Amino acid sequence: MDLAYTDEEEAFRAALRDWLSVVLPKLPPKPPPDDWPARRAYDTGWQRALHDAGYGDVHWGASPTKRLIFLEETEKAGAPYVGAGFVGLLHAGPTIAAEGTPAQRERWLPPILRGDEIWCQGFSEPDAGSDLASLRTRAVRDGDCYVVTGSKIWTSHAEVADWCELLVRTDPDVPKHRGISWLAMAMDAPGITVRPLRTLAGSTEFAEVFLDEVRVPVGNRVGEENDGWRVTMVTLSFERGTAFVGEVVACRRTLGELARTARANGRWDDSVLRRRLGRLSAEFGALWRLIQWNVSEGERGGGPPGPGGSVFKLRYSQARQELYDTAAEVLGPDALDVSREWTLDRLSSLSYTIAAGTSQIQQNIVAERILGLPKGG
Ligand SMILES: Cc1cc2nc3c(=O)[nH]c(=O)nc-3n(C[C@H](O)[C@H](O)[C@H](O)COP(=O)(O)OP(=O)(O)OC[C@H]3O[C@@H](n4cnc5c(N)ncnc54)[C@H](O)[C@@H]3O)c2cc1C
Repeated sequence: MDLAYTDEEEAFRAALRDWLSVVLPKLPPKPPPDDWPARRAYDTGWQRALHDAGYGDVHWGASPTKRLIFLEETEKAGAPYVGAGFVGLLHAGPTIAAEGTPAQRERWLPPILRGDEIWCQGFSEPDAGSDLASLRTRAVRDGDCYVVTGSKIWTSHAEVADWCELLVRTDPDVPKHRGISWLAMAMDAPGITVRPLRTLAGSTEFAEVFLDEVRVPVGNRVGEENDGWRVTMVTLSFERGTAFVGEVVACRRTLGELARTARANGRWDDSVLRRRLGRLSAEFGALWRLIQWNVSEGERGGGPPGPGGSVFKLRYSQARQELYDTAAEVLGPDALDVSREWTLDRLSSLSYTIAAGTSQIQQNIVAERILGLPKGG
């Protein structure tokens, strides 16, 4: 493992810092958390600014080390994160880059990088979450199209997405993992109904998506027909292995703010609380080291991240919940103020051990694929 930065990487950091100091003061104020059209405009505007300055491909085109530098510097400077661009930039785009044909890469990647198009993820169904391969949404060939019928659930950003990375069953007569295909579906195609779902925090971040004979061109299939499970594993390895990385830096910043708040409001005198803050600081420090280790190993090996992403996802999602529980202790009654963004962050922190595969599923992956333990009964 080599964690030292080269001169070129340090020059990248310095140039980025300079650029951020110029553009950030001109950035419009962040829209309210639940105004999704406004948030789409804000998030895509930021991605466009990054693209125009030569940083558009930093999440998957640049070297992973530059990405870490980018995340450190943008977070330190208080720059926006990917927001509604999460799926496109952090797992649909990287999947198409890794598995798509040259024509598919040409069609879909530049608009993601320019901030022109937003993607959502149509994987989960009412009876297919952890057991994703049980999905029932059918796609039947009709000439040069698939006719897709079924429903998806928990589709984040579906309301404002242009495209959906969609899993469909293209062969119902083979074992369940073998009959799945990975499609790119235009969200304005006839037959799609999006019904927002309200979260605990009142947000309509995700939705149910109903598909009634939606026509998707066969050319929008990424990978071979019925080979979608393999492509899905690529998507999930990006989602678990690299997509949440940037948020660790944000959590470290939140932790620093909490320590300052505790000093100011007297909670710092509580030695139990101080110990919790210290332990969390060590935990996020260790997570950042784990990320650096993964990046260093990944740069040597190339290719998509492996099942090691599950170790990160498991610990990160747990640590994030502990961080926000501790925040509630530091803030006391102020922790109930739902108009504050961090209160919403606390409520949503609960979802991190569920989204992108629950903690129990990550534990199964670690046990079976990393530790080589036998499958449970
Ligand atoms: C904030 C958020 C955003 C999301 N965004 C999207 C999205 O954009 N697109 C999308 O497709 N999905 C999305 N999801 C859905 C998410 O991927 C699923 O909720 C998740 O995979 C769990 O599936 P499930 O809800 O069906 O739970 P279930 O699979 O029903 O699991 C219920 C419980 O049983 C446990 N369990 C199930 N099977 C096993 C097993 N074999 N071993 C041990 N324990 C097991 C689970 O760990 C869990 O505790 C999102 C979810 C959240 C919370």
